[in-house]
Amino acid sequence: MAEIDVKKYVEFLQKYDGEELRLMEVCGSHTAAISKSGIKKIISPKIKLISGPGCPVCVSPSAFVDKLIELGRDGAHIVCFGDMMRIPGKESSLNEEKGKGLKVDYVYSPMDILPMAKENPEINYIFACVGFETTIPVYTLLLDAIIRDDIKNIKLLTALKTMPEAIDFLCANDAKIDGFIAPGHVSVITGTKAFYEVSNKYKVPMAVTGFSPKELVVGIYALTKTCINKDSFLKSGKSLVGNYYKSVVLDEGNTKAKDNINKYFKKGDAIWRGMGNIKNSGLYLKVEYSKYDAGSFDLIEDYKINKACRCSDVLMGKISSKECPLFKKYCSPLTPQGACMVSSEGSCYQAFKNGD
Ligand code: SF4
Repeated sequence: MAEIDVKKYVEFLQKYDGEELRLMEVCGSHTAAISKSGIKKIISPKIKLISGPGCPVCVSPSAFVDKLIELGRDGAHIVCFGDMMRIPGKESSLNEEKGKGLKVDYVYSPMDILPMAKENPEINYIFACVGFETTIPVYTLLLDAIIRDDIKNIKLLTALKTMPEAIDFLCANDAKIDGFIAPGHVSVITGTKAFYEVSNKYKVPMAVTGFSPKELVVGIYALTKTCINKDSFLKSGKSLVGNYYKSVVLDEGNTKAKDNINKYFKKGDAIWRGMGNIKNSGLYLKVEYSKYDAGSFDLIEDYKINKACRCSDVLMGKISSKECPLFKKYCSPLTPQGACMVSSEGSCYQAFKNGD
């Protein structure tokens, strides 16, 4: 394959002077990678790169945190990813509760809960399962191990989400996005085909791309070109979904991982923090595995900690983090007023850190 002339692509993106294009990334790792790369500052102001709901921790509703605290107060030992510790619930966070004696630990992999549970069979452990299609396969491996080793003291509290339905929700709710940078890690599991339906339905271009500065340039260039030539794509029947991350993303995705997901989980509606109920955008343990569930089905409350927080508009791409009146004044990583400022993959956190 001929070497890609990235310099030419950068020049094109710098000189672009057509209609304003709003391109949204819906992957927390893309949010962080784009912010870190500085690409927003060098491309034409007519290409707006907007962060969407790509951070799984940020979109977990307050009721999820509240339920974990409730389970902890009932005696369970809560285990979660580090970012989850600081996400606010209605009145408190896991971090604050830990300070008051709640048993909470964070780990780097859900599998780390296995030795904890085996060593302490008298303690009930709950894993706080958040994530998109990227992370869900790890939970299926955890379930495999729990069942194989007949471990009786681990349950899962889930707030699992799927991305094509969220993109559909954005398109249906006036998010005014011209094209999506499709989530790279999610696409490894789902494959590019998972995005065909939503792209066809709203005639919206999408580009699957990677995370290095070069891959980002290639993806953004290709997406911009597809947006510009959308009519001719549609006339010729060519798909508006392009795969620019072929080294790891297949059209069909990872079929084994998808089979494992379908073995344990079924689709259902889910509450996204700040966005509300999105039809069929959640995954829940199937009835036959319900004994491993810690009460994930009724987590519908989404309490706003600070009424002035504009997380919902940020997640929908309607405003940038800087346009929120609390940004940097009252809201910072040390004093987060909303979930988008808590997680390192949150749009507001990245905007604060990298000055986007
Ligand atoms: Fe919410 Fe803070 Fe972001 Fe404003 S800057 S939207 S208050 S998280």
